[in-house]
Amino acid sequence: MNKSIVNQQSIKQFNTNKILKLLTSTEMISRAELAKQTGLNKATVSKITDELLNENLIKDLGYGISSGGRKPKLLKFNPDAKYIVGIKIDGTDIYFTVMNMKLENVFTQRIEINNNDTGIIAELLKESFNHAVKKLGIEIKHIIEVAVAVPATVNIKGMILHAPNIGWKNIDLSEEFKDVFTDIPINTFNEANAGALGALHHITNPENTNLVYVSAGIGIGTGIIISGNLYRGKMGLAGEFGHNVIVENGRQCHCGRKGCWETYASEQAFYDSLERKGLKMEKDIEKVFTELKNNNPIALEAMDELSSYMNIGLENVARAMSPDYIIIGNKLRHFKNYLNIYDEIQGSKVLFIDKESHTTIEGMGFVIARKYLYHDRYNVNN
Ligand SMILES: [Zn+2]
Repeated sequence: MNKSIVNQQSIKQFNTNKILKLLTSTEMISRAELAKQTGLNKATVSKITDELLNENLIKDLGYGISSGGRKPKLLKFNPDAKYIVGIKIDGTDIYFTVMNMKLENVFTQRIEINNNDTGIIAELLKESFNHAVKKLGIEIKHIIEVAVAVPATVNIKGMILHAPNIGWKNIDLSEEFKDVFTDIPINTFNEANAGALGALHHITNPENTNLVYVSAGIGIGTGIIISGNLYRGKMGLAGEFGHNVIVENGRQCHCGRKGCWETYASEQAFYDSLERKGLKMEKDIEKVFTELKNNNPIALEAMDELSSYMNIGLENVARAMSPDYIIIGNKLRHFKNYLNIYDEIQGSKVLFIDKESHTTIEGMGFVIARKYLYHDRYNVNN
């Protein structure tokens, strides 16, 4: 592309971003105020806001109250101009969500599954999707992307290489689900990466934040954020702290190694440990809490072990990455009050996330909405 066209597009994108950032962070605002706060001239502001009005991304609210002189026309960001479908598949449940551009869930559904066959899941998704579209009365062309989070290694092209806990190998979900979401791009995320982005979304100054999200459920996945961006590494597979060996010649892991962190500090590892000690329990957090409250020595011992193995892995993460935050999510967050783990390691704060599936889905929405609004509008090839 011609260099001067690229420059013009970059400037236009840059100016539009300034305006969009103000519009998305205020309730309503006039063109004059947009010009004043962005430092752009009024003609540029009018041209850009006209384009945004045409796209329905903003709405004209009519005249506001004058502070002397002409009454200002007020504009408002329209979060319902476009939608994103967010899906989380974790082996036992499917969370199906439709979000608007403010990442508000306008439709959510949880579906229990006992079969991870992609054909069966596609049928369930089709049902949910048709129901959502009908209920919301939205047009397919207004859905910009479908994002699917899976606890799996996902390469840079979005191909699932291995999802051991779901039993998937070498699967391309954009192929598997193409008839469900005709003509809508489908993007597959590693679940921990999506969680990391979701955690980032809740931090005030995301651009300057480094964090590691630890998703501890059946296994342990980690997502790495460096200066507000997801770090995926050369092949897209970075952040496998769950497979750092913490016990030499330890427990066999499905990855082929022995003694991986996830075989000692995941939710699954905790239940396995209870069973080894003679307390076989179904995976029911409330029942675990009851045993702990009743001072069941086996439950207390297993929880102690879990804490110390958790700490070893967290310290590895902190020493390797030195992030601002290490944020623990997924099933293990429910044990927050019983786990005795560091709250800070060498200056890295260790926190628990409040909610899980929503954070993961929100993370995917965050990155897609940000890309749609701020990066892809004028086809700038960086
Ligand atoms: Zn492993």
